[in-house]
Amino acid sequence: MKDVLVIGAGGVASVAVHKMAKNPDLFGKITVASRRQFKCDEIAKSVKERFGADIATAQVDADDIDQTAALIEKVKPALVVNLALPYQDLSIMEACLKTGVHYLDTANYEPRDEAKFQYSWQWDYHDRFKQAGLMALLGSGFDPGVTSVFAMYIKKHLLDRIETLDILDCNGGDHGQHFATNFNPEINIREITAPARHYQDGEWVETPALENRQVFNFDEVGTKNMYLMYHEELESLAKHLPEIKRIRFWMTFGEQYLTHLKVLQNVGMTSIEPIVYEGREIVPLQFLKAVLPEPSTLGTTTKGKTNIGDIATGEKGGAQKTVYVYNICDHEKAYEETGNQAVSYTTGVPAMIGAALMLNGTWKGEGVFNMEQFDPDPFMDMLNDHGLPWQVKELPEPLRF
Ligand code: NDP
Repeated sequence: MKDVLVIGAGGVASVAVHKMAKNPDLFGKITVASRRQFKCDEIAKSVKERFGADIATAQVDADDIDQTAALIEKVKPALVVNLALPYQDLSIMEACLKTGVHYLDTANYEPRDEAKFQYSWQWDYHDRFKQAGLMALLGSGFDPGVTSVFAMYIKKHLLDRIETLDILDCNGGDHGQHFATNFNPEINIREITAPARHYQDGEWVETPALENRQVFNFDEVGTKNMYLMYHEELESLAKHLPEIKRIRFWMTFGEQYLTHLKVLQNVGMTSIEPIVYEGREIVPLQFLKAVLPEPSTLGTTTKGKTNIGDIATGEKGGAQKTVYVYNICDHEKAYEETGNQAVSYTTGVPAMIGAALMLNGTWKGEGVFNMEQFDPDPFMDMLNDHGLPWQVKELPEPLRF
């Protein structure tokens, strides 16, 4: 049985469902369910128009374990692909355990009332999934996801030993709006305003948010400012590749984005502390999300490219070597194919690939797993075949910052 239930109907889910429908040899019946069913119906309509395929839709509040389990019982999928928000990870994992179904997501659990994400909450489910003979695959997006697979590909094929790893995430796209985020605004702003953290000689080093800025020339995008940040794959890479001395994550931001963010922060709009407004409690960041454009609506206007990849320095045959593995994705091409911009595309495609590898048994296990625990080669091949081709370059010298 290759039937799949996708939960969530935002930009990432839309891409994943389009790509699943495009590959009927890999996926059987596809059902998409979310909090608002009309969003699922919109995806189903687009898939029908583009590829002539039928998608089933349903309504679910995935915060509710029993409701989610009842839907899983009804749909009877082999796999649940969680493309809702990180807040729902644990309730959907519980529902999968209750119904005996495999699980996949693209972002690790984050409690609503604390801007903090870490894998431990989901790693704690390992024994329960193992005992149930089920598999949970965490973080099958681009970063985390492809960036971890790139690291394993480098370790397997390009270097005997990785000493330093830098993940560089550049979105050179322009959506023509004064201020908008390319994925869920609440999650995005929580991530960017958190202190930066990187891994160095077995320790975590914390520095203020957006303080360490470097300039890098990205292939097909150009020279951009990028900032040191904490990102979830650092935690799992440090666990699974303990020999690495230093792991860092960098993301590019334009001046206009940072100026808006600073003002919003200064006036308290990015706070997750509830305030009372006209007799009712509201969370300023959730209110801000409500007035910002939905990421899934940005596709029509976004132009430019993303360039995301890993730079690793280490030894090969006794000599020092620096390699760069990266993907370039064009916003307009992504939109043409799926009706979504490249940030959703670069996340939805790896979600589809992870799901396909689980369903056909290429990646299998019992328990909770991160991407770097599996053979990178089949995943790398599918990236080339399904719209995210990658390139390998040798750099003349290691990064000098
Ligand atoms: P969106 O905000 O566009 O979509 C989220 C969807 O989840 C919406 O359809 C929303 O429904 C639905 N949802 C929210 N709460 C519930 C609930 N309780 N029950 C059912 N459905 C719910 O986000 P994106 O599509 O941009 O992102 C999806 C996920 O992908 C996020 O977890 C994000 O962090 C992750 N991501 C991962 C990346 C990676 O590279 N690994 C990169 C980018 C994103 P409604 O429309 O009704 O609000």
